[in-house]
Amino acid sequence: MAQETFADRLRTTMAERGLKQADLVHAASARGARLGKSQVSQYVSGKVVPRPNVTDLLADLLDVDAAWLSTGEGARAAARPETASQPVPTVTATGSVTMREFKKSTKLDNVLYDVRGPVADEAARMEDEGLRILKLNIGNPAPFGFRTPDEVVHDMRQQLPDCEGYSDSRGLFSARKAIMQYAQLKHLPNVTMDGIYTGNGVSELIQLCMNVLLNTGDEILIPAPDYPLWTACATLAGGTPVHYLCDEQAEWTPDLADMEAKVTSNTKALVIINPNNPTGAVYPREVLEQIVEIARRHQLMIFSDEIYDRLCMDGNEHVSIASLAPDLPCVTFSGLSKSHMVAGYRIGWMILSGNKRCMSDFIYGVNMLSNMRLCSNVPAQSIVQTALGGYQSVERYVEPGGRIYEQRNYVYEALNDIDGITAVKPKAAFYIFPKIDVKKFNITDDEQFALDLLHEKHILITRGGGFNWPEPDHFRIVYLPRMGVLREAMVDLADFFAHYRQG
Ligand code: PLP
Repeated sequence: MAQETFADRLRTTMAERGLKQADLVHAASARGARLGKSQVSQYVSGKVVPRPNVTDLLADLLDVDAAWLSTGEGARAAARPETASQPVPTVTATGSVTMREFKKSTKLDNVLYDVRGPVADEAARMEDEGLRILKLNIGNPAPFGFRTPDEVVHDMRQQLPDCEGYSDSRGLFSARKAIMQYAQLKHLPNVTMDGIYTGNGVSELIQLCMNVLLNTGDEILIPAPDYPLWTACATLAGGTPVHYLCDEQAEWTPDLADMEAKVTSNTKALVIINPNNPTGAVYPREVLEQIVEIARRHQLMIFSDEIYDRLCMDGNEHVSIASLAPDLPCVTFSGLSKSHMVAGYRIGWMILSGNKRCMSDFIYGVNMLSNMRLCSNVPAQSIVQTALGGYQSVERYVEPGGRIYEQRNYVYEALNDIDGITAVKPKAAFYIFPKIDVKKFNITDDEQFALDLLHEKHILITRGGGFNWPEPDHFRIVYLPRMGVLREAMVDLADFFAHYRQG
């Protein structure tokens, strides 16, 4: 007899409980958890096995033991919540003791990071089976042949023996001095050395700031689409992310009316991502000035994620919003992951500027958390000075004839040639966020679309919903692979859309 699978156990239990797939979706949503229709259908059909956190959720909803649901082993009945402080070990019929379950905290229930989410998990599973997957989902330059400048690697090697100890918690003097000089070139007002902090990538500093700033119930304005770490960190910190829309008709610049309409008495800050991931937009000075006006009117702190500022194309000038807001509290984020192709070294920074007086308590909190993590990766800090000074090799990539420039042009045109797909031309970074004619393809679920594309063409993209985009009508492509690979991918994509209709 064939071995019982996860899908078998799921189906049997659902039948016993008289539950349909839609019931699970609703029950999950009533608990504030995200469970898509397509996800459940993939699990029931046995096409996909859920990740451990989703298994936990399903087990909870079905009132069975998660380990049993996952493996078929152990007791089937769900462990009851403990009333005593010490959990009571469950003894099975065979006399063995079942260990209590360790569940993730409920703080994670609404946290979303689909760039490495369920569809990426499915891609990993397919790779384990020996299939070759083309990954157009992550902005990681190195695997696509974008090499770190030799000088940077050389200088890190030279300095490695001096990087054994912790540094000052904000970072090495040489690194912060170089960042300070960069801030001067970008006209950031009122920057001092003690207002510059290095981090293990911008990622760490986003999380740190959200933890410092947000109390439960505090709102923070974040773009939709966004780089989802912002929303995830704000949520994890107990705050409430409120998404303002960026307008595709206006080259994906923020819809200022929407932004202002979403300000409430609980709003503390606004986030912009400029240049933008996932749209590739670069905001003109006039738009930034109007955003500053909104922040000024409502006394908001400004967080500006500018990690792609050196990857602008077509002569688009990058303006740091902080340079326009000397009277407001501003935090500007950047790093070397993308501009110097060292995403793996983990080095980023943030610069506090403008009105420091009103953020002195915030600064106290930043220092506290910064001290608690001791310091960021010191070998990576040691190359900041080298990287930021002198010739910038990234410029070669983003000018005509350069890889990023040419690949952007190709992907932009190839996508717009597909019937039912339209895309705004990115001005910076290495992402494009095409729109799908959902009526034509009958698409109601973008995760299902991403899974269908993965299964049929072995291409991994990220669905628009993964960037907190509210409709199932967009997806993001990373156009870092070499032209030959991109050509194949675009042919496959065109072929897919020539027949696709979501069932
Ligand atoms: N901010 C944006 C807009 C990004 O796209 C990324 C990575 O893709 C990050 C921050 C994270 O950067 P880091 O590698 O410095 O953590």
